[in-house]
Amino acid sequence: MFIEPHIGPLSDSLKKHGWIEVICGSMFSGKTEELIRRLNRALIAQQTLEIFKPQVDSRYHKDHVVSHNENTIRSTAVSFAQDILLLAGNCDVVGIDEVQFFDNEIVEVCQNLAYSGKRVVVAGLDMDFRGKPFGPMPDLMAMAEYVTKVHAICVQCGNIASYSFRLDSAQETVVVGEKDTYEARCRNCFNRGMENKNND
Ligand code: ZN
Repeated sequence: MFIEPHIGPLSDSLKKHGWIEVICGSMFSGKTEELIRRLNRALIAQQTLEIFKPQVDSRYHKDHVVSHNENTIRSTAVSFAQDILLLAGNCDVVGIDEVQFFDNEIVEVCQNLAYSGKRVVVAGLDMDFRGKPFGPMPDLMAMAEYVTKVHAICVQCGNIASYSFRLDSAQETVVVGEKDTYEARCRNCFNRGMENKNND
């Protein structure tokens, strides 16, 4: 097929070409590290960034995206997905960490950012501690141009882990976890753990 060469100025829609990247996986899979790695590459290229996370995740620092290995990058905590549209301004790249904690409005927000020509890079847990898809993640993954699933190592057997197993028996989904509450498990070890819990 012959593709006509571009002669003359690009139209606005061609110049401002945005897209969505999703980085997903279980706890301890390195999602935030991967997010930070991509954002730092954009910074090196002198692109402008705005980075957000939901207000609920204030594990260590209110204004930083924090990964478990303590690589940090400055971010803004927001209460509502819509706030991101207001605060993103004219930046080239928008990063969002812990994106699973936003409600479904985040899907439209990411779409709008991409339509306005921005590169949108989000990281989040794809499954909750029951092994069910987490909040807006399925929709985000379906609508993204790029999806990267990163993995942890199963603490029980050393296989590839995709599940976040909750060691205590609390039931609320939004608990901001750390190593003493969760462990990364493979499918089989996760299932065995859930069966043991149900038999207690
Ligand atoms: Zn295992």
